[in-house]
This record gives sequence, C-alpha cells and structure tokens, in this order.
Amino acid sequence: MNTEPSFVHATDATHDPARRSWVASANDPDTDFPIQNLPYARLRRKAAKGEAPEPWRVGVAIGDQVLDLRIALEVAPWEPETARHLDALAQGELATFMAAGRPAWRAVRAALCEALTEGSLHGPFLESALVPMAELEYTLPCSIGDYTDFYASIHHAAAVGRLFRPDNPLLPNYQWVPIGYHGRSSSIVVSGQGLRRPLGQIKPPDAAPPVLQASRRVDFELELGALVGPGNALGERIGIDDAEAHLFGLVLFNDWSARDIQPWEYQPLGPFLSKNWGSTVSPWVVTMEALAPFRVPFTRPADHPQPLSYLDSPAHRASGALSIRLETWLQTARMRQQGSAGERLMGSNTAEAAYWTLSQLIAHHTVNGCNLRTGDLLGTGTLSGPGPGQGGSMLELSQGGKVPVGLSNGETRTFLEDGDTVILRGRCTAEGRRPIGFGECRGTVMPADL
Ligand code: CA
Repeated sequence: MNTEPSFVHATDATHDPARRSWVASANDPDTDFPIQNLPYARLRRKAAKGEAPEPWRVGVAIGDQVLDLRIALEVAPWEPETARHLDALAQGELATFMAAGRPAWRAVRAALCEALTEGSLHGPFLESALVPMAELEYTLPCSIGDYTDFYASIHHAAAVGRLFRPDNPLLPNYQWVPIGYHGRSSSIVVSGQGLRRPLGQIKPPDAAPPVLQASRRVDFELELGALVGPGNALGERIGIDDAEAHLFGLVLFNDWSARDIQPWEYQPLGPFLSKNWGSTVSPWVVTMEALAPFRVPFTRPADHPQPLSYLDSPAHRASGALSIRLETWLQTARMRQQGSAGERLMGSNTAEAAYWTLSQLIAHHTVNGCNLRTGDLLGTGTLSGPGPGQGGSMLELSQGGKVPVGLSNGETRTFLEDGDTVILRGRCTAEGRRPIGFGECRGTVMPADL
C-alpha cells in the first residue's frame, strides 16, 4: 500500500487548467467533461429497431463525446502497461480495473489525458473511437456488491430528527459514530430508468390498524455513492490514512424513500421496505484522481466531540474532505409537456453538508474487520446543507409535508407525484482550477402497481 496518506492526491500535469483537448466540445467552459475529468461508464450504442444490441463496453467521457476504449485499444499505439489495463477495460468490465488500484488508475489517466490533448499524435487514430453521447445508452458501472448507506450530514440528521422526535432531534451517538445501515443492491438502477411508486404497510396516525396502500410520500435523497476499488480481507481493518486507496470514484446517488412506510417499520431495526424499492446512480464514475484539486480540510467545531483516533489523523485534517456542489432539479409531467427542462429545487456543498468524510466512513465500516469488496457501494446519506433551501429531500424542503414547495409554473409539491422526474447534478469548482462535473442522475416516479 501507499506510504503517503491515500487522500493526499497531489495534483499533476493531468489537472493543468490550461490543457485543451483536440475534442472541441471538451474545451467548452460549461462542459462537465473537460480533459481534466475523464470519468468512466459502461455503455453501448442504442440499438435501432430490429437490431440486436451491442455488448456493453467501457468508455471515457470527453466533452459531448465518449472514447470507446475497445476501439481505442485497437486503433492507437499504447505503452505496454497502459495496453494491459486498457485490455481489461476493452472487455467491457470496469471491475477488474477498479480492483487494480491507484498506480493503474494513475497510469491510465495519464495516458488517456496525453492521448486526448490538443496536438497529440494519438489524435488522428482515436477519432474513429469517439461516439457522440447522444447515441449511447448506459448500464451500471459495475455489478454492485454490498450496499451500505450512511447518514453523513448532521443537518439532515437534525432536520429529520426534529420531524420524527421534536424533543430529541439529534441522538447522542451521532457526533461520535458514523451512522449507517446495510441496504440492498438488487434494486440499484442506472440513471434514466423509471421506478414504480411502492406499496407498503402504512399506519395513519389516527387509524388503529395499518393498511396496505401505495405510498403517498415518495421522496428523493440527494447523496453521493462511493465505489470501492480494492477490498480488504475479512478481519483486517483499513486505517484512516489508507482509506482512499480503496476508493475508485464517486457517482451521484438518489436513494428514493417512502416517508409514510418508514416511521411505522423503522423501529427497532432500522429502514427496510421504505428504502429498498429503488436507488438510482449516475452512469459516470468520477475518479478520486480527478477530484484531487477539490480537496478541502476536514474540520470539526471545537465545541463538538472530536473524532476518536481511528477516525482522525493530521493528514486527514489537512485534506480529508471534498468540495462538491450538488443540486436537485425537478421536472414534473406538466413541465415536460410545456417543454421545460425542469427547475432547481435545492443546492448544497459536500464541504458544508458532510459531518463525516469518505475516509472516515471506510475506516469505521472496517474497524470491526468487516470486509469491503470491489464494486461495493457506500452511500453518503442525504447531503443537506445548513441553510434554508439546502435540504436534500422533499421531507426537509416541505418540512415534513406541512409547507408545500411552490414551482414556477404554479404547481406545488410536498412529496413527489407520478410522472415527476428528479435530476441530481454535481460540479466541482476551485480557484485556478478547471471545473469538472458528474453529468446527471435522472429518475422518474411511475404509477404504483395496484
Ligand atoms: Ca439514504
């Protein structure tokens, strides 16, 4: 493993903000995918009617194009080490590469960056490996193994606590232990798929017996998902300074929730059917290397308990956190009919929202010897910011359904209606750095199966 702490991602030539690509759209100041980003996804061309679909393949986003790594491997000359890693990716699987670890990730990033840079000798070869994003469809970045969801925003925890337990909003363990639960990976879908409004056992406050009905309080949760690269052996813990060596990259993550199923079922063992009917990930995995320019110090207010030693280190204090601006947009069915792309519901920043960092989540998850495996997904929990309008769920934005949120076309929402499309976006900016983004995580609420 590395001798330097794993979250000390020194920026290098691949982050140079002056670097431009021969793919013109990658030089657009507004693109999420300049040459400094280079995220991975699994994708294929949308099949024409009657045509058999192609096998899934791995691509890298560059502007509004995707570099198909199977073709890129064939058509351009590569150094032997790069070719070996590209060969694994050319099989259409990201997992082997995710398991290969940071030296492999850095080598391929450097090679792809060089090849896509303006003036590169690779350019004329690689043009035939570009596919316009508009022609593609996506699948999950990898087969997702175990899924753990955390609760990393103290603002979300306090806001939800106030609704469920007005006299005791923040439980005393919150500031000591990263709270989490084991979720279910079978219902994690890629951006663009619809999810049915779930049925469940719901107990109205004024009715004695619970009833089975379609949830009337379907909600989104704005989260980030962290994909595990190399795992750890059962019984071996991961130290805080080594945690991010086990982290391949991040996706946007909408952890759909049914708020009326949740309060009846969650005691005493925690969330169950209110949470496991669907979660949506964005197709593009933004690597930890690409996020290097957007590191920020981990801080904890002086009047809060300081983290126990296994969740703390000087290097982690210096640069253990990330600054990512997150937004949730809503496009209702009526907006779609009116030709509107939707409107922004809220925004927050991970640097303010997250009480616990990704490294702390990993160190805590494994402190008992629990083993993480390649392709496991860690959800951060809803990343609500401290201010009004920064709630990462309708539960918070509508104050538990009591205050409807007004939309510009005259509609209102407390929770989500059938036909509502929720779109998550993420973007990183920093002084003197080229902004990068996450693309979109999009999902639509479909009518219940009654
Ligand atoms: Ca969640």
